[in-house]
Order: sequence, then C-alpha cells, then structure tokens
Amino acid sequence: MGKIVKVSGPLVVAEGLEDANISDVVRVGKQRLIGEILTMTGGSASIQVYEETSGLGPGADVETTGVPLSVELGPGLLENIYDGIQRPLLEVREQTGPTIARGVDIPALNRAKVWEFTATASVGDAVSGGDILGTVAETSSVLHKIMVPPNTAGTITEISSGSFTVTDVFGKLKTASGGSVDLIMLQKWPVRVARPYEKKFVPSNPLNSGQRIIDTLFPLAKGGTAAVPGPFGSGKTVVQHQLAKWSDVDIVVYIGCGERGNEMTDVLMEFPELKDPRNGEPLMKRTVLIANTSDMPVAAREASIYTGITIAEYFRDMGYDVAVIADSTSRWAEALREMSGRLEEMPGEEGYPAYLSSRLAQFYERAGCVECTGADARRGSLTAIGAVSPPGGDTSEPVSQATMRIVKVFWGLDSSLAYARHFPAINWLNSYSLYLDTLKPWYDANFGVGFMQSRSRAMSILQEEAELQEIVKLVGADSLSAPDRLTLETAKMIREDFLQQNAFVDEDSYSSYDKQAKLLALILTYGDVCREAINKGVTDVAKLFDIEARERFGRAKMILPGEFAQRYADIERDMRYQINEIIEGGEEV
Ligand code: ADP
Repeated sequence: MGKIVKVSGPLVVAEGLEDANISDVVRVGKQRLIGEILTMTGGSASIQVYEETSGLGPGADVETTGVPLSVELGPGLLENIYDGIQRPLLEVREQTGPTIARGVDIPALNRAKVWEFTATASVGDAVSGGDILGTVAETSSVLHKIMVPPNTAGTITEISSGSFTVTDVFGKLKTASGGSVDLIMLQKWPVRVARPYEKKFVPSNPLNSGQRIIDTLFPLAKGGTAAVPGPFGSGKTVVQHQLAKWSDVDIVVYIGCGERGNEMTDVLMEFPELKDPRNGEPLMKRTVLIANTSDMPVAAREASIYTGITIAEYFRDMGYDVAVIADSTSRWAEALREMSGRLEEMPGEEGYPAYLSSRLAQFYERAGCVECTGADARRGSLTAIGAVSPPGGDTSEPVSQATMRIVKVFWGLDSSLAYARHFPAINWLNSYSLYLDTLKPWYDANFGVGFMQSRSRAMSILQEEAELQEIVKLVGADSLSAPDRLTLETAKMIREDFLQQNAFVDEDSYSSYDKQAKLLALILTYGDVCREAINKGVTDVAKLFDIEARERFGRAKMILPGEFAQRYADIERDMRYQINEIIEGGEEV
C-alpha cells in the first residue's frame, strides 16, 4: 500500500509502492479512483488517474491491483458504448445518474446476461491459442467466435453447448503439464500490448466505401491506415459517418476521444439511429462505441485509443474485417501533451512529447491484414482511420506531420472546398493513397484494366486544370486554346458530376464500383469525343458544351443501381450523335 505525496491534475505521485510495476492499474484514495502507473523510480510512482482527482491529497492510500490496464473481451461488446477505460456508459448511467460517480466498479461485460453458446470443438481435440471452441450469435449481424485465449493450450476434456454467462464454465482443458483450465467466454487483454497473430500480409483488397473520391481516386486497403485531417466544419464527421455506415467491413469500432462535448453527444445520439444500409439492421449491431465526453478527464482519452484498438484486434482474431475510426487523434495527442507536461518531461515541438510520433506509430502499426492464430489459418484485417483536427486547419503542425509520415492514405479536407459546398471536401491535389500499386491487381481482375486507367486520366486532367487555372488567373480565359478550354470543361465535370457526392441524398450516398467506373468512363468519353471534334475543325467549343445531352451528365450520379448501365449508354449514344451533328454542320459552312 502506497501513500500519495503530490497531486497535479490527473497526475498523482505516490510513494511506498515497491511491490508495483510500470503499467499496473492502481486504486487511488478512498474513492478508489482508477489510475495507471506511468513511471517508477524506486518505490515512487507517477500515476495517471482516469477520473477527476479533486479532493485527493497527500497521505491518501494507493493500492496496486498488480495487473496492467486491460479490456474485457467476449460477447456483449457489440452495441455497447464504453468510456476510455471500458466502463459501460449506459449501465453506469443507470446506476449513478448522468454524471459518472467516481470509482464506480461495473464490469465491462454484463455478468448476468445469458448467451446461447454452440460448441464447435469436441472433447479430445488438441487446441491452442486462437482455435475456435464455439460460437454465440451475439447480434443478428455478427457471429461471435469464442476462441482459446492466446498463450493457452491443451486437450479438451469437457465442452458443452448451452446457455452461459460470460463467466460460466462451458468446458475444460487439460494442459501438457497435467493441469486443468476452465473454459469461459470472457478473456482479458492488456490494452497497450498488440494481440498476437500468425503473420502479416500486404493488404491487397480495397475497403469499399461507396464514396467515389475515396474508392476511385484515393482507395484504402482493408488492413491499411488512413488519416482525414480537416479544419472545423470541413466535413470530417460526415466522412467518418459515411465510412462507418458504408464500409464493407464486419465490425466498426468508433473511438470518440474527446472532441468537444456536444460533438461527441451528436455521435452518441446519431449512431444508435443509423441503419446498416446492407441489411436494414441498426448499425450498432456491428459497432462498438468508445466515447469520452468533455466532462471526462483527459487521461481517459489517452487510454481510449488503446481500448478501442484492442477490441478491434479481438474481432480481427475471429477472422473478421474490422475498421477502427478514431476521432480525433489530435485530442488524444493533446492528452498526451498534458500528461507529459505534468511529468515535467523535456518537451518537443509545440510542447508535444518527443515520443508523439512513436506513440502514433504504435497505434497505426496495430492495423494490418493478418493470418490469425488458430489451426484454420483464417484471415482477418484491421483498418485504422484517424481524424486529425489541426488548429486552424494548418497541417504543418506536429500531429498532422507525424501522422502523415505513418499512414498510407491521406484524405485532406479543405475548408475552401467546404465553403464552396463541394462535398466531400477532400482536396484531390494534396490527397494521396499509397495502395494504388498493391490494389491494382484487384481492380484489374474485378473491373478490367480500364478502372485504373480512367483513374490516372482523371487525375492528370485535374492536375492540368490546376495549372491552367494559374494561367487563367494571369491572362484570362479567352486566351486559352480550344483543347485547353476542353480540359477545363472536362475537369469541371469530373469535379461536379463525379467527385461531388451528397451524403444526405439516398440515391447518391453510396456508389458501387461498377457505377463509379461507368460514370467516370462516360465523362472521359465525352472529353474524347469533343477532342476529336476539335481535331476535325470545330472551333466553337461552347457549342460542344451546350449540347442537350450535357445536362443529363449532371444528373447521372443519381440514377439508381438497376438502371445506370442502360441509361449511361443512352446518354453516350445521344452525346455522340449531337456532337457529330456539330461536326457535320461545321463542314457545311
Ligand atoms: P466537421 O466534423 O469537420 O466539423 P461536419 O462533418 O460536421 O464537419 O460537416 C459540416 C457540414 O458540411 C455538415 O453539416 C453538412 O452540411 C456538410 N457536409 C459535409 N460533408 C457532406 C457530404 N458528403 N454531403 C453533403 N453535405 C456534407
């Protein structure tokens, strides 16, 4: 038992903790506040306390629990809303009212709830970490696989299907040394340690988001990493909601680490109402929410990222595709900065600790496409997407810079695009995806080489547009040649008729790959046909841009899934016909 010698906000220094270790969870004071040991010198420990420390003073008791900060894993995770140290917010609220009382001790997974367990392993099976023992239909969307915990192995001596709580013994293992291990559904895992896997693969399948600028221009791979930096109001939340809603993953873990309180409440209110567009079920049935509202101490934010990614790894281990969305890593980094300041560490850039980038890297490194542990060599993936909210939208600040060095996809939101109501406001000139090469074989195999070819052409047209706009600024649009004016026009169509996508219009919120490919091809074909016309002597380009079919390009993205192939073909046919008329009309003159 140690004694407090100093309290500084969320940091508590205690002495007499010779029996404790770094990373141990401790209980502080008579309220038994939850804390974690950050550093130790002799018996003196610096402790990060995850709850409000007011009223705490020197002399109060500190007791170590002897275990590192861990999460509980098992049925009951889905549909739940946790705080940064995995306290179930709804149950806590039921017991203590709207503001969380300090020191509450409610287990993360409900101990009373009974689950229907179906054993898939049998007596006599030799099993080890990761092997699947049975399943629980946790929600209508997700089959929860009950696995042998890592670092456990033996021969099954007893196992039965039936109704169990997460702590009921449903079977027994005999270990090599002759011991007996009870099998229960609940597992615990220390959050700061990545869960084991067999091996990692280069991610080779794209994450289908249904967002045209993402899937076509800057695709993210399943098992990859991405960052969405953007100033306030640029559409970060909408992008993240769209990803949570439409991504073709099995599980979404959404970590809200301390955005302004009201924004977090938005997520808490909105999320439970969202429907999974694929099966009409509530989206929460495949979602775990980690929320730190602004009335929670900063230290809990710091933990929330690890809590979230550990839960995600657990579902990945079942062989699922999981996406972690962290909103926002800037608030997380600020929590890190605050603790570092109180620990009186040497500050790095803008007061952030020197280990900021290595901590960020540790988070993103836990993403990946893996072969899971377990005999069936199943594969799972964990995709990590982090929002960054740089102050004033200036991405030269340390968190954005450190993030950009780590992640492979960068969707840069731009306030000027948002101001012009171009949504999603992802800037095509500074965004990038480093997965283009590894994903190309997938796109080629599924949609033909045309998909990636169209993508490169669209990108070069957009880049040419940026260069031409510089010229226009200097000498005016009139001085441009007909081919250059056509480039500007095609770029405008790519921006307005392809990249702009309204998240709030049902017909437009999601685009299949096929629709994306055909829509972009249609626009590029129009550009090609006009260019031919110019080569054949048409000089009045305005005429080419005024044809009747052009108007239909603008509405093309709204055409429903069953109809677009035919209707795009109709638009192309009419467009070719009308341009031909202009060419022929020109020859008569
Ligand atoms: P941030 O989280 O960056 O502060 P929001 O995600 O709340 O910004 O977006 C601000 C507003 O921008 C939204 O309320 C919405 O009106 C608009 N918006 C953003 N993205 C889209 C989109 N894809 N489609 C339509 N409107 C959008």
